[in-house]
Amino acid sequence: MRVYLAKELLEANQNNAGENRSLLRASGVLMVNLIGSPGSGKTALLEHTLKKLSGYRTAVIEGDLYTDEDARRLSSWCNQIVQINTEGSCHLEAGYIGHLLAQENLLSAELLFIENIGNLVCPAEFDLGEDIRVVLLSVTEGNDKPRKYPLAFKVADAAVVTKTDLLPYCDFNLNQLNEDLRKINENLALFTVSTKTGEGLGDWCKWLEKLLQRKRSA
Ligand code: MG
Ligand code: ZN
Repeated sequence: MRVYLAKELLEANQNNAGENRSLLRASGVLMVNLIGSPGSGKTALLEHTLKKLSGYRTAVIEGDLYTDEDARRLSSWCNQIVQINTEGSCHLEAGYIGHLLAQENLLSAELLFIENIGNLVCPAEFDLGEDIRVVLLSVTEGNDKPRKYPLAFKVADAAVVTKTDLLPYCDFNLNQLNEDLRKINENLALFTVSTKTGEGLGDWCKWLEKLLQRKRSA
């Protein structure tokens, strides 16, 4: 019997992530991996982002344990969408993404979004080969999440605080969050958005567009 160490499996994931990254570099696609706990607003953010960026060719890889509800919800707003059902597994791996990049026509997109499985723990450990990793945190979850799940915020390029229209009803301390985030990751971009009022969505989308331009001119 062979005993595999998690370390070895993560190494295999890292190799697959590297292959994905080369494919994306060659085709100029910007791949964005969204992570966040269940109910943090990943699908809502994607829906509004896709609407705002409708001038681009967009594709989505939608990760869920079961169901294709989110994919059906998003399908009118992007050029292409693929659903992965992990049937219980709590994160996506680079190999799954590599398979889809080879099988589906995803590399013809300009922006490719991945909605990871709702979970702040292991999606942080699995590099998918993305250009940008974004961690979502809704104001209803509390501002203690970076202290409790530091890895998710350490390995991210941006944090998006969602549902800011609910701030008056929640004990969410944005200043404390900012302070905690600076300690964990001083390069982290921070956005505050509400898909209900539209607050902050413009800045968030402009940031994505800027990164796409930068990738194309690299
Ligand atoms: Mg969702
Ligand atoms: Zn997992």
